[in-house]
Order: sequence, then structure tokens, then C-alpha cells
Amino acid sequence: MQNEMDITPLEAKVNTDSSLELTELLARFGLEGFRPLQKEAITAVLRGKDSLVLMPTGGGKSLCYQLPSLALNGCTVVVSPLIALMKDQADSVNKKLKREHYAHVLNSSISAGKQTEIKAKVHEGETKLIYVSPEWLSVEGNQAFLDSIDVPLIAIDEAHCVSEWGHDFRPEYRNIRKYLSGLSNQPTIICLTATATPFVQQDIIDNLKLKDVNVFKASFNRPNLSYFIKPKLPQAALHQAIAKEVLKHPQETGIIYCMYRKTTEEVAEMLQNNGIKAMAYHGGLPTKERMEVQNAFTSGKVHVVVATIAFGMGIDKADVRFVIHHDLPKSIENYYQETGRAGRDGKPSRCLGFYSEKDVKSYARRFKDLNEGERQRASQLLESMHDFVLSGTCRRAFVLRYFGEKVEHNSCLENNTCDNCAQKYETTDLQEMAKEILSWMNNNTPKGASKKMIQTLLLGRTTPAITTAKFEESSVFGLGKTLRPNSIRELIEMALNVGVLQRDPSNPLNVLPGKWSNENLSPSSFSVSLQQRVDRPKASNEATFHQDLYDMLKASCKRKAESLNIPSFLMFSDAALKETATYLPTTPENFLAVQGVSDRKSRKFGQFVLPIVQQFTKDNDLEANLSIQTKGVMKKSAQKVKLIEMIDKKMTLDALEGFLGVDQDYVINELETIVMAGTKLNVQHLFSEEVDEELYDEMWDFYRGLEEDQLGPFEEEFDEEEIPEHILRLVRLQFHAMHGL
Ligand code: ADP
Ligand code: ZN
Repeated sequence: MQNEMDITPLEAKVNTDSSLELTELLARFGLEGFRPLQKEAITAVLRGKDSLVLMPTGGGKSLCYQLPSLALNGCTVVVSPLIALMKDQADSVNKKLKREHYAHVLNSSISAGKQTEIKAKVHEGETKLIYVSPEWLSVEGNQAFLDSIDVPLIAIDEAHCVSEWGHDFRPEYRNIRKYLSGLSNQPTIICLTATATPFVQQDIIDNLKLKDVNVFKASFNRPNLSYFIKPKLPQAALHQAIAKEVLKHPQETGIIYCMYRKTTEEVAEMLQNNGIKAMAYHGGLPTKERMEVQNAFTSGKVHVVVATIAFGMGIDKADVRFVIHHDLPKSIENYYQETGRAGRDGKPSRCLGFYSEKDVKSYARRFKDLNEGERQRASQLLESMHDFVLSGTCRRAFVLRYFGEKVEHNSCLENNTCDNCAQKYETTDLQEMAKEILSWMNNNTPKGASKKMIQTLLLGRTTPAITTAKFEESSVFGLGKTLRPNSIRELIEMALNVGVLQRDPSNPLNVLPGKWSNENLSPSSFSVSLQQRVDRPKASNEATFHQDLYDMLKASCKRKAESLNIPSFLMFSDAALKETATYLPTTPENFLAVQGVSDRKSRKFGQFVLPIVQQFTKDNDLEANLSIQTKGVMKKSAQKVKLIEMIDKKMTLDALEGFLGVDQDYVINELETIVMAGTKLNVQHLFSEEVDEELYDEMWDFYRGLEEDQLGPFEEEFDEEEIPEHILRLVRLQFHAMHGL
């Protein structure tokens, strides 16, 4: 092949300026026209220009290398991280082109004999497209093979895997350039991805040493998707909300994503109990079973798949009508990719996400096992996701800006296709304060300041970093004290978006002063700053939390508890009272559906709760809201019974984790559910090493004096003991089990 960049092998064969030729090639794929940017990217590739293509999932990235492979001399190589999907991709090309050997797969799962056959076909010119894994590329013999054939083009699929700052870093991807460097004729490179922030885009270009690169960025806006984010309710209420969302889509397909494998099973079971065709899917299932779920889903036999993130890659189902996130995704990239599986057919589809601060903490605990750099990067991605759920601005615009897209006209506001746009806003007089803060940031942010540090400054907290930077003397120290921390995060996010601050290119955790002049900082240039919500529309068919009822219940339980000389939360947990104030059970039977209310508790203490609820519903003309079957999971679960047995046998936490195949966090969550439901469980052996009896008694004394059942004050009080958080959780569990009622 030719080596000069501007004389391409193609020019001898196809005239790229003639759209007729391209149309003819397109027709061979059975297609009639190009999708946005496909033609541009293909033309660039055929001219030998290195390219970076950013298109949302389903945008048609594969055509950008498949079509050129037809026109170019030699064999095009596609590097892909997804061994499991390569075969499907190759088969689909062969089918479209009606050729048996046009595309083949080469990776470690292919036998040596088969590889030799395929290589021969490449030499013969019959095979013109091979899908390889980066590991395959790392083998010297394979590099020599590539050097012995003509490789006009290398396509790097899922190119964000190159970047450590991406959400799916693959170390071997970082070596691709090295593996290719030995080729005597340097191929053109096309990188393709559906999720890359501007920072990651630059990292890809630098790492692969793309020359004179053409970047093709399709819009990532998915106008037919609507986005809703809600704080997570207690479990039964959450189940109810999920079931209701699913029931809004009778006979339609959807995916529910969960953080834990066990949760997928619980939610699937709950949906089945409500007559919905649902199945669980996670990495722990045998391959055969996973295939069955996939097939049932694609064929429409099952409507809802409840899955961990293992599900979805390569599943080409166009009519997914809803995607629900039971837990917070760990990055905006994940969120975008997972919600992106809805509505590929362009019809309106809903994305509903639940989050809680507990999710954020669970991730933080998981990140502890990572090395310093990995942890920093994972935290950065999570931090952005956290900002996103807390944000009061348009969800759609937030995501688009995150991926570096300018949002000029946002139709979301008119169509109410996100929860925040659907809200009505009231501007408060915080604009002046916002202006002062932004102006300060613009002029005074020192190099290397982190987002967190600015937040601390605005909240007026003194930390060593703040003192070192002499921030206490700054005019904005503590200026944001009266704001919710969320508003401050939003303000910083906005400062980044409008250019008052910039992300530090050498470290995305840090920020730099922006390039704005003070005149530009007119309030109108940052429209929805720090506004407060009003008129939250009440959806009548959804469970609503009644704060005033909750306060009454709490007071009643407190009075009783005082007479018994115990903290009131040991009578009914806070979560139970919140659920009660949400579902409004008025009969003992209904009351049992509330999390943590056992038969015994209902009989003994129902009298301090139910009459209040009855009066409240009567006064406010409300009805109990318990149509969805959310219990039953607990009683049936053989696994929980087994867990109780194992605790009785004094098995260790490690053994419990091993048995369930889950992490520590999950085990403790399970134990909490069991204990809060009224089962007496002695877990002392799980913490007796860290907490001796004397300390335990001290802790109990402190704990029973608390106003609320919170871990925070407890943690602070016993700070010096340096007891890990999970141990404190176990101790708290023991209080409930031993001193609870
Ligand atoms: P991506 O890799 O960007 O997720 P694919 O390349 O798998 O997307 O394409 C998604 C779907 O769109 C495929 O079914 C493909 O056949 C189809 N497609 C791609 N380009 C076109 C086009 N120009 N016209 C019609 N359909 C197309
Ligand atoms: Zn919006």
C-alpha cells in the first residue's frame, strides 16, 4: 500500500468526491442514505486522515470503518475490547454483504488452527475485515502477520478505553500505539466512541499520537428520551415506585439497573409478584441462563430485565420504552450509556433514576481497594454523577455539556422532558451573591485549587488547605454559608460551564481561573442560578411523604419510649415511620407491609401509630397507598434464613461474604433488613475484636441518648478509637437486636 498520507490507496480505486461511488458502496450494506457525519468521517478515512468519531450508541459508528474496508486495498483491522461481541459484529457484516468470509474474529478464544485458516484467507484477499482484541495485538507473531499484509486502516472501537480518565479504562488499550509502531506501513487510524468528555478526547489523541486529526462529533442529544431523577425512598416505597413506573408501560419492554446482584433478584421477584414478566440478569449467573434471559428479552417473551451493568452491551433492541436506575450509576458515562438503550427507535421513552447518599458512600467504600490513582479517577467520575443528580438545572443540558457539547437551543424546557425543566422556578435574590462569588473565582482562584476546596471556602470552613491558601481572608469566605451545599456545587458546576472556571488539563480534579472579563458576569449570562423550586406538582398516583404526619408519629413514639426508658427509634425505626407517613396504613394488616414492622411490633405498638394515621387520612381525605405487593420477598427468601443460621453458628464476615458472593456492604445491608424486621440476631462475634465489652457499654450509653438513629454522631464521638465504619454499623445493629423491642 501507499504510505504517503495524502495519496490514498483508494484514489486509484474509488473517487471519493463522487457521492455516486459512496452511494453504491452504501447500497452493498443494504442502506440508502448516510446518518449524520458518517459520510464526512468515511471520506476523511478514505483520504488517509486520522479521525476521532464521537457518536451516541446506535449512531452508526461501525459503518465508518466497515464501508471503507470495502473500498481500501488490503485488510482493515478493528480493535475491540468486547470479545463476546466480536463474533456477532463479524457475522452481521458477512450477512449484510452476503459473503461468508469477509469478516473474521481473531482473539485468544480462537484456536490456533482456526487462526491459521483465517490468516490464509486474509492473505488471499477474501477476508478484508478482522476484529481483534488488544491482547491479540500484543503478540509479536501477530504483529509480524499484520506487517506481512496490507493494513490500510485500523479502527479502534470503544476508544475511551484508552484513557485512564474514561469510565472504562483498559490498560492494554494504552499500548496499542506501541504494538502498531513496528509496522513498516503506518495505517490510517480511526477511533470511535460513544462516551468521551473533552478531556478524554484529548487523552485519546495524545496517546495514539493521531496526526492532524479530524474530529467528528455528532450531537449526543436524544430528544425522544425524558429524564427523571428522584431521591431514593425506603425499600418498600422504592419497590412501589418502581412497580408503578413499570405498570405505566403495560406489555412494553424496559431495563432496570441495580448496583448489586442480589437486588436484581429481589426486584425481579417483586415485579413477578405483581404479575409482571420480569427476569434477573447478572454476571453471577451461568452463561446458559444469561443467554436465556437475553433471548427472552430480545424476543419479547419477558418484558423487564432487572440487571447489573453486565446487561445491555450488544443487545440490539430498538423498542425499549423505559430504563430505571434502582441505584446511582457510578459515572455520567454509565448513566448516558445505560439510559441510551431506551428508545433507539426514536419513540418517546422514559429514564427514571433513583439515588441516595448511601449509594455514594457504598461506592466510596468499594473504591478503597483501588490504588491511589484509580481511586482519584473513579471518585472524579462519581463526583460528576453526584453533581448531576443534585443539580437543579436541565438534566439533558447537563449531560450534553459534560460531553463537551454546546447547548444552544434546549427544547427540553418547552417539552418538559426532564424533571427539572418540568418544575416551575422562582428566582430568589441570590443573584447578587452568585455574581460576587463568580467574580471572585474568576480572578482569584489559585492554580491547583480543587472543586472541593472552593466549596469549603464558600461554606466558610477552616481546614489546613484553606489556611495555607490564606482563604480565610478572602472576601467570599463563608459567603455561601446560608446556601445548601447542593447550591454551591451547582454554582461551581455552572462556573465551569460558562467559563468562569476551567478544568485543569493536567488534573481534572482541579480547576483554574477562567477567561471571562468581569463585564461578562452579568446575571443574565447564568440564568437559572441558585433558584428555589416552588409548586412541585403532586402526582396523585404516586406515594407522597407527609412530613406533618411523620412529626406526629415521631412525637407519639417518643413519649412512649421515654416511659420505657429507651430511645424511640428502637420502637420503630425512622425508615418505618417514614414509610408509614408515605403509605398511610390504617389497619394492622396494612401496617405489616411497612418495612421493619413485625407481627409482634404491630400488636404491641400499633396503638401508638395507627389511630394517628387514621385521623390524619380522615382529616386530609386521603387513602392508604398500598396497592403494590412489596413484601413477601423477605419472608420467602431462603437465603436470609441461611444467613441467620450462619450468624448463629458464629461464622465470620468473610465467610458470609463468600457464601453470598457479595461484598461486605451487602451482607451488612441484609443483616440490617433482617434485624429491622424484628428478628433477634446476636452479631457480637462480628465485632468483638474491635470493640470490647467495656467499649460496647460506653457506646450503648451514648447511643441511647441520641435523638435520632444516626451513625454520624456516633462516629464522631468515638473518633479516637479509629473503628472502621462497617464495625460501627454492626454495633448499631447489635443495639437494635439486643435492646430493640
Ligand atoms: P453504534 O456502533 O454507533 O452503536 P451501529 O454501527 O451498531 O451503531 O449502528 C446502529 C444501527 O444503525 C445498526 O442497526 C445499523 O445497521 C444502523 N445503521 C447504521 N448506519 C445506518 C444508515 N446510514 N442508515 C440506516 N441504518 C443505519
Ligand atoms: Zn431539561
